[in-house]
Amino acid sequence: MATLLPTLWCKSRFPLAPLRALRILQAMADRMISDVLTKPDAALEMTLRPSLFSDFTGQNKVKERLEISVAAAKQRGEPLDHILLCGPPGLGKTTLASILAKAMGANFKSTSGPTVEKAGDLAGLLTNLEEGDVLFIDEIHRLQKTIEEYLYPAMEDFKLDIIIDQGPNARSVRLNLPRFTLIAATTRSGLLSAPLLTRFPIRERLDYYQAGQLDTIVTRSARLLGIEIEPQGAHEIARRSRGTPRIANNLLRRVRDYAQIKGDGVITAGIADLALAMLEIDGSGLDEMDKRILEAIVFKFGGGPVGVSSLAVSVGEEPDTLEEVYEPYLIMEGYLNRTPQGRVATGLSYKKLGVAPPEAGKVR
Ligand code: ADP
Repeated sequence: MATLLPTLWCKSRFPLAPLRALRILQAMADRMISDVLTKPDAALEMTLRPSLFSDFTGQNKVKERLEISVAAAKQRGEPLDHILLCGPPGLGKTTLASILAKAMGANFKSTSGPTVEKAGDLAGLLTNLEEGDVLFIDEIHRLQKTIEEYLYPAMEDFKLDIIIDQGPNARSVRLNLPRFTLIAATTRSGLLSAPLLTRFPIRERLDYYQAGQLDTIVTRSARLLGIEIEPQGAHEIARRSRGTPRIANNLLRRVRDYAQIKGDGVITAGIADLALAMLEIDGSGLDEMDKRILEAIVFKFGGGPVGVSSLAVSVGEEPDTLEEVYEPYLIMEGYLNRTPQGRVATGLSYKKLGVAPPEAGKVR
């Protein structure tokens, strides 16, 4: 960290005060712990991503419905209907989309909402598709509304209306597109407009995984990565992975490092426990940021209600990340309630922090 300090210092047009620079570095270090839990590692995901329905653990009802849609579309010799996959990050939306493309024997082309900056970007993607191709748009809720409107006729009639020229010479030209399948993923289906939502005949929501299913995922990943792991070691990682395969896979690698340096390379329950404690992930799977969120609501905002923007500022995180990554799990586990007035800590939060909840009717 010390070596970073001069760089940060020099790159700034207005040199930072030493204390402020140190605070920024501290925040960066804190973030790294959260990044272990939230950021995808491209190389790792390539190795571990299941490519067949049979390798995809859990989400059985969703899987069954999608497998039927694939079989039916193949029997009719038609492309698959457009599909919307919703749910928190890391639950397997991209994985399912690529499995669907493979099962259809179709090409898989992938982009994301924020990457499509202009209508021309979307036109480029759509006009390069071939019959039956799967176009995957991740984070579709981040697609600009003006661009979204070009999708409507493309999805419904496989037509694209583009404007050629500007000013008085401007004219609209309609292009025919091949029949393709749009598979979109979102962590925030509530932000999608009704016209977009209704253009997806198939909508599926992925849920957090049970510890037993994550056990299977951790064991499979360990096998693919050549990691020696005992069943209890896999179980320890699984139950502290916030119900999320991506986190389970990332933690597996961190624990493997620990086992290699501090043990004999084998992941046992004891090694997993020590490694996860070092990463500040507690027995219920809550990490530093989760705890910071609960502490902020309870200690700074009197237990809530507090708006997401104020909460985000007080924990130094983006409001979107709070809403998409942290809150769903805290709500599911019963630590937090979302009310129209804002976020409210539950009795479980107070218990977790070891403080007594305020008595009913008392000002906090
Ligand atoms: P999302 O698109 O929802 O953010 P991904 O599809 O990128 O999530 O999944 C993250 C990683 O988790 C994948 O690389 C894959 O290895 C693993 N994964 C996700 N779901 C499953 C599953 N059901 N079975 C096995 N591995 C999974």
